[in-house]
Amino acid sequence: MTEKEELESMCKRRGYIWQSSEIYGGEAGFYDYGHLGSQLLDNWKREWKNYFLSLDDNYHLIQTPNIHPYRVLDASGHVDHFSDVMVRCEQCGSSFRGDHLIEEETGESAEWMDKEEIGGKIKELGLSCPDCGGPFSDPEDFNMMFGLDLGPTGEKKGFLRPETAQSVYINFRREFRALRKKMPLGLATIGSAFRNEISPRQGVFRMREFRQAEMQIFFVPEIHEEIFEERYEMIKDTKVKVKRVDQDEAVEIKLGEIEDLPPFYLYHLGKMYEFYTKVMGLSFEEVRFRELSEDEKAFYNKIHFDLEIDLDTLGGWEEISGLHYRSDYDLKQHQEESNTKLSIPTEEGRKIPHVIELSFGVDRNVWALLDRGFKNGDRTWLDLPVKLTPRQVAVFPLVRKDGLPEKSRDIYESLNRDFRAHWEKSGSIGKRYARNDEVGTRYCVTVDYDTMEDDSVTIRDIETTEQIRVPVNDLTMILRRLIEREKSFEQYMEEQD
Ligand code: ATP
Repeated sequence: MTEKEELESMCKRRGYIWQSSEIYGGEAGFYDYGHLGSQLLDNWKREWKNYFLSLDDNYHLIQTPNIHPYRVLDASGHVDHFSDVMVRCEQCGSSFRGDHLIEEETGESAEWMDKEEIGGKIKELGLSCPDCGGPFSDPEDFNMMFGLDLGPTGEKKGFLRPETAQSVYINFRREFRALRKKMPLGLATIGSAFRNEISPRQGVFRMREFRQAEMQIFFVPEIHEEIFEERYEMIKDTKVKVKRVDQDEAVEIKLGEIEDLPPFYLYHLGKMYEFYTKVMGLSFEEVRFRELSEDEKAFYNKIHFDLEIDLDTLGGWEEISGLHYRSDYDLKQHQEESNTKLSIPTEEGRKIPHVIELSFGVDRNVWALLDRGFKNGDRTWLDLPVKLTPRQVAVFPLVRKDGLPEKSRDIYESLNRDFRAHWEKSGSIGKRYARNDEVGTRYCVTVDYDTMEDDSVTIRDIETTEQIRVPVNDLTMILRRLIEREKSFEQYMEEQD
């Protein structure tokens, strides 16, 4: 089995992720999260909120519907422009994204090509249907939004939202007032987005219903730039890996050495990088920023870098999130189409705020955690950061007799108040360790015959499989210190020697 198949199999067997409507044969582009996946998803969202909302005391979370009336997405440009170029196989009827077919063949991005260019390139490369070898139809533009009829008579039209961003822009005016006109203003939302993807073949990476966590920061560049400049000064020595449009390879560079980008943009690049390395536990080598070319990025994005992670399961660097400087495009559009003033009063007259958008696909982030964490060598185990893993600690009895199960159950119940804990007694101890390693349980606590004598238990670390023996009375305190990284497992081991 390939790495991807191994991980997918674990995800299905153990309760992380599988295709939705499985018992009816499944439906492409839809996935269900089981008890572990759902917990991992929630943990990621919590850490994302903790991290990004704490960047400023005027950054807040809002909740909005999944459905937008037609006018919202007409104003934003989605009705006219939210399309991909589709080609169909004339023999078997399968549909494909034209740019993806070209990218697979050439290894180079083709996202910027229009349908004529895609048609020409497909002919030039002599491409045929990957499923049956049949010839392709002429490429056509395909709008990816799911349209809806609202109300019983269906005279009102709407859409499932293709991104969460518009929900925030249309609420800017209300929140600006409610928050007493304080700027910069950050409004974040975490919610579902829907895209009728032409060919969803990459698991949770390309779904028709997925989740986004996005933060829109509203500011007036000439007035608020200084605030971000001060923050940027504090992180400008951060080293990141960046691939600029004119470079073939990513290079290591300090943020402060990137001279052609404004500090407010670099500051947010730095904070995104910090989230991936400090919160998601990825290493410098695994994360890079890729600048999008003029052809690739949306016309309203003045600066656009994607954050990419090197993924084994998808064969290389893939977009996980993005940082978009969208200028004043969004509020201008909504002001014009809604006939509502969205400019704000400043000392220099009324100004339409600009937006810098931090955009994250939640499912892609979760998949990146699973991909990077999945170790499948001599031993199979899942290396998830302890703050994110669905199971921080599992408790078991060594054997299923002589009062050990009852004792382990009592310990589990006391731990379950403070940690994400799990208890089990079925199978042999070796099998329990293996099962918990596979799903990323950071620590396994075992109750044995010594426990019944001296009230001590062992704690086993997932990474090294080493064990320490500790008094039951100290267990909560020790686990807390380990989880908060106040003390390492190695330090506890050294103390025991
Ligand atoms: P792609 O080029 O891969 O189609 P995109 O550039 O259109 O993605 P954006 O519109 O920038 O994506 O969306 C923001 C984020 O939402 C992406 O960085 C990604 O993490 C996530 N995302 C986009 N489309 C999907 C999808 N179909 N399934 C899962 N996540 C997605």
